[in-house]
Amino acid sequence: MTTPLRTAEVIAVGSELLGWTRLDTNSLFIAEQLSRLGIELKGKAVVGDDRARLTNVFRQSLARTDLVVLTGGLGPTDDDLTREAVADALGLELVEDESITVSIRHRFERRGMRMPEVNRRQAMVPRGAESLSNANGSAPGLSIGVNAKLVVLLPGPPRELQPMLLALCARDGAIGRRAGSERLYTVSLFTTGVSESHVEELVQPIYATWRDLPTPIETTILATPGQVELHLTLRSADKDAAVRTLERSRDELATAIGDAAFSADGRQLPRVVGDMLRERNLTVAAAESCTGGLLMQRLTDVAGSSAYVKGGVVAYSNELKARLLGVDEALLTAHGSVSEPVAAAMAEGLRRQTEADVCVAITGVAGPGGGTEAKPVGTVVIAILIDGHPLAVRTHLFPGGREMIRLQATQVALDRVRRMLMQ
Ligand code: ATP
Repeated sequence: MTTPLRTAEVIAVGSELLGWTRLDTNSLFIAEQLSRLGIELKGKAVVGDDRARLTNVFRQSLARTDLVVLTGGLGPTDDDLTREAVADALGLELVEDESITVSIRHRFERRGMRMPEVNRRQAMVPRGAESLSNANGSAPGLSIGVNAKLVVLLPGPPRELQPMLLALCARDGAIGRRAGSERLYTVSLFTTGVSESHVEELVQPIYATWRDLPTPIETTILATPGQVELHLTLRSADKDAAVRTLERSRDELATAIGDAAFSADGRQLPRVVGDMLRERNLTVAAAESCTGGLLMQRLTDVAGSSAYVKGGVVAYSNELKARLLGVDEALLTAHGSVSEPVAAAMAEGLRRQTEADVCVAITGVAGPGGGTEAKPVGTVVIAILIDGHPLAVRTHLFPGGREMIRLQATQVALDRVRRMLMQ
């Protein structure tokens, strides 16, 4: 019986990842796959193409974890040093694996090309390593058992790495086979319209009652513009019991938070609102000024949104607010384009033009310029016109820079539609 792999570290290799143009995203994918198997990621590192440094970092990782996953640096060129560094650290000699040479040569021949001699480097593997076939590139992956531990070398390009890692993590793969019986289970609850500290205040007393549970629930709170997310994680060998506990716990939180909790199943706000529209057989349209179409983009990012999205108008200039939406020039002059009467007129004009059941109008000052004492940067007026409801116009003040203000405006617009539809 082999010892299960419980902990892991990831080392992303490549000098380009130390600059300011490329980001290591492979480790995110690796973290996700390992977490599904209950293997806890204990650390990650980014190391440049430096053989001695990589050898050192790898040696330290292997000393303290069960599984080390290295990504990148498996190419045929001189700066691809991962194989060498791992062989150095493990005291293994590099030997040519003929089967790899043959498969790389075939890969070139299939495209009518001769294999350059440098590619032979990719067939040099630490003695005893098992090669992992690469359907999308020439660099094979490698896995090496080191006593009870496992070392995996994967190519850098995500489209090459991902299928390889999935195969390794499958039930019969080198990682999946040794994952042990425990898995990590997660549920989430998304809220909007309440601050992170307010949510924290509401959930803390509930967290306190979970302290005596036989298996502890790990809780995380995550704030993004216009949204606060709660994530609950539990490690267990019993899936049904874990899911039951997590769902019960999430429901307790949802009850405490009330209407601000909009999603208990991972759906984001545009999807939640879209599903409500679909269920009620309603259509939606938007007239956007400061958000420049962002609301429409978020609504139509959802596959199948043509069932309820009619379309929209980006009326950035006063001229188009008047011409396309019929906003009275006198209103624009008297109140300014960022005002409740203008937002209301935009929503009404949109209704006339589109006949949508739900009409949303947004006009505001996204900054950085254009703010005044009366209407500082972040002032956004949102008007919502829904059949059977009185016209709802409200002025909001959002913090942050241009991007954050625009995002919050769409988030609040969607949330207000959601709350009106719930009435
Ligand atoms: P190749 O045979 O393609 O050279 P390799 O294993 O040598 O494979 P690298 O040369 O290190 O891989 O990286 C190739 C490309 O893969 C990089 O330019 C980058 O776009 C991408 N890449 C490498 N490492 C990562 C990473 N950690 N996260 C995301 N992308 C990465």
